[in-house]
Amino acid sequence: MSKYETRLFIDGEFVNSKSGKTFKTFNPATEEVICQVQEALPEDVDRAVIAANKAFERGSPWREMDGTKRRDLLLKLADLIEQNKEELVALESLNNGKPVSEGHIDIYLAIQHFRYFAGWADKMEGKTLPVEGNFFAYTWHEPIGPVGQIIPWNFPVLMLAWKLCPALAAGCTVVLKSSEKTPLSALYCAGLIKKAGFPNGVVNIVSGFGDPTGKAIASHMDLTKIAFTGSTMTGRLIQKYAAESNMKKVSLELGGKSPLIILEDADLQQALKVAQLGLFFNQGQTCCASSRIFVQESIYDKFVELATQQSKARVLGDPSNPETMQGPQVDKIQFDRVMGYIEKGKKEGARLTTGGARFGDKGYFIQPTVFADVQDNMVIAKEEIFGPVMSLMKFKTVEEAIDRANNTTFGLAAGVCTKNVQVGLKIARALRAGTVWFNCFNNVDAGVPFGGYKESGNGREKGPYALENYVEVKSVIIPYDP
Ligand code: NAD
Repeated sequence: MSKYETRLFIDGEFVNSKSGKTFKTFNPATEEVICQVQEALPEDVDRAVIAANKAFERGSPWREMDGTKRRDLLLKLADLIEQNKEELVALESLNNGKPVSEGHIDIYLAIQHFRYFAGWADKMEGKTLPVEGNFFAYTWHEPIGPVGQIIPWNFPVLMLAWKLCPALAAGCTVVLKSSEKTPLSALYCAGLIKKAGFPNGVVNIVSGFGDPTGKAIASHMDLTKIAFTGSTMTGRLIQKYAAESNMKKVSLELGGKSPLIILEDADLQQALKVAQLGLFFNQGQTCCASSRIFVQESIYDKFVELATQQSKARVLGDPSNPETMQGPQVDKIQFDRVMGYIEKGKKEGARLTTGGARFGDKGYFIQPTVFADVQDNMVIAKEEIFGPVMSLMKFKTVEEAIDRANNTTFGLAAGVCTKNVQVGLKIARALRAGTVWFNCFNNVDAGVPFGGYKESGNGREKGPYALENYVEVKSVIIPYDP
């Protein structure tokens, strides 16, 4: 038997899948199998959906619970995650390849998220509304119902937190599917959810593949909403499944190709740091990665030289070593995809200044790679690479940089580096992206909304806006004079 929790979490219990089917999960640093995990098939999704509906019934312990108790449960869970953070960081490192130094950031942010949304659980308030005539009208914000949630593998615990927190604060019940690439930390969290004392069926966590498991969730007739984070390609399918089943509400956090504009007056050392963090954080496997870096002409050559030096100096290796800055890509599929993009970049004539090859002979490691002189029409400037590949592009004027930065089908995030606050604000306003970081990057505080323009999704996670994904607004009108 594995020392890790590998079963499905349904109706407050850990159970095997009905079929007994399992799948292997891997350590990407060694390519070795860690253990077999129970695979939820549609019949198991049905069980989870039944449990989530039962927990949501009128009069159930969860529906009878007021917001202050939901707040306390979320705070308890935050404390439990904090008490077990070393185990969670180690699991993320083992199953995802994340360096422990970065894993600590993820878990810190997840804890922050649970505490932040605990604070909303007892503040789900409606409005009183002025209306014509002798009537009193008010709105009531009610949980939307049992919801489905599907998350990716790049931040397994943090994405679970982004999804669960607003849903539970609003009073929904949940069937969540983790990514087939990284199922272990979500199941560990399921144990903490049970320990925190959430009523049975409020949170159900299943492991499995996109099709059939994720598809069964997104198409289910008895879920009122689906919240999805993943690629734009899968996002299209999710919308289709929702439309073809019961028209469940849909919120989507999808891919990106985020621009970072570095002006000639920027603090050069700070801009270099922003570019490194923006692109290489999490092995480049970040939806908002600064994967198109526009550098103004007069500082371009210097920037290319220094960015190359810094990228070369990154420490790759065993993700469990606290000194490691970059671990492996999550699996062979992602490794091959990223290497494919590197080859395309070379073929299309981008100037490789460092990297461009595999690192070591075991594990899915890729050398930090920098391409200079990248042109807007190259594939590496248009498609999401999701790996440690920096693309540097030269521009002359601010207007040109804004137009080129906006020339993308995505709109998740963007960045600008300059000492001139007015110009920075002008650029921040002109960029068509859900988040603009000004002289920083990747700050994802729980209180600030995050989400995409254009094909990067719809709806917002984090901050008070996230709650809107999980409430129905009910209007009640009463005459004063019976
Ligand atoms: P993916 O779309 O392949 O998978 C995401 C999840 O969807 C997984 O759990 C997967 O099993 C499931 N899935 C796959 N096919 C499905 C189907 N047909 N029906 C239902 N579910 C299905 O994406 P990924 O490779 O896991 O993650 C990387 C992508 O996620 C990138 O594009 C990245 O930009 C995006 N992402 C976005 C955000 C954001 O907040 N916008 C955050 C993290 C990752």
